[in-house]
Amino acid sequence: MVRYFITFLLSVFISLNLNAQSRREIQIPDIPGYLTLKCDFHMHTVFSDGAVWPTVRVNEAWEQGLDAIAITDHIEYRPHSQDIKSDHNRSYEIAKPLADQKGIILIRGTEITRKMPPGHLNAIFITNANLLERDDWFEACREAKDQGGFIFWNHPGWKRQQPEKTLWWSQHTRLLDAGILGGIEAFNHHDYYPEALKWAFEKNLTLIASSDIHSPIDDSYDAADSHRPVTLVFATERKAESIKYALENRRTAIYFKDKLAGDQKFLAPIFSASVKILTDYVRLENNMVKFIQVHNNSDIDFILKGKNSGLGFTCAKEVVLKAHRTTMIEVEGNSEEIKNQPVLKLEYEVTNLIVAPGESLQIVLEAYNF
Ligand code: ZN
Repeated sequence: MVRYFITFLLSVFISLNLNAQSRREIQIPDIPGYLTLKCDFHMHTVFSDGAVWPTVRVNEAWEQGLDAIAITDHIEYRPHSQDIKSDHNRSYEIAKPLADQKGIILIRGTEITRKMPPGHLNAIFITNANLLERDDWFEACREAKDQGGFIFWNHPGWKRQQPEKTLWWSQHTRLLDAGILGGIEAFNHHDYYPEALKWAFEKNLTLIASSDIHSPIDDSYDAADSHRPVTLVFATERKAESIKYALENRRTAIYFKDKLAGDQKFLAPIFSASVKILTDYVRLENNMVKFIQVHNNSDIDFILKGKNSGLGFTCAKEVVLKAHRTTMIEVEGNSEEIKNQPVLKLEYEVTNLIVAPGESLQIVLEAYNF
């Protein structure tokens, strides 16, 4: 009897300790031919200068709707090494079983941490971080590349390393010419680097946005009204190899604050897949005001600035298609020509979708009139 009672108490105790966790998906749609994977390839743990255990990074990633992460502890900077004595592969090894269990793709990575130039570089998809502990920074990068790694330049405009101006150095040209440098962070933590965006387009580098999180993620991004910076990877499968192939082929866009930046060939289909015109027929006539209902099923508020109205009507110049809402856009017939318009074409610029330095995505919303 006593034994049963103890068993009963134990089972109550155990079940009281079982938690339910919930995941919030990032709603940015897939595009024709590709899945849109949400990734963060730059973060730290106690194994370098971070404040959390590696499994915490996996839990955070799962809760915040990510598909893949890379834990990238510094090779050369390990302020906790008196307390945490281990090698450079350890944070990955600790996190991996939980990542597998939760379906988070964990990519082995590390951060080569040097003064400028060349500054800090992330190497992901490597096989052994310990072999990157080299005196010569170029040799460390070459070793990463030889392991099959993908290498990108972290926070090029970090004020602590480039206080006056964000410069591109000859060392970066050397890495680029050797086929080692593959990508660049245009957004890191809370900072945007327009120069890096420009270089990504000029030099064919893959765009990356990272949290570079050191503390628990909630300390930096309030889950209720913000999100961590994310690299959107356009991959054919939800697999590590597919992500690597996409990175090597510049198939990314970056999602930071209320913005997306990337090639038009990715941002245009994201916009189209997010937005749907609900109004079947506007039936607009001269001197009449009507509305077109537009639904946005993504997490992004699209900020539209009117360019041209079509023949025979004018439309609202400033429109925000709010995330997960339906918006009414006002149109007004201003000539008899409107009767000959079977389709109303509303031309806008989406000011928070950046397709090149200083350039935003141009779109046309088309609604049937008659
Ligand atoms: Zn870092």
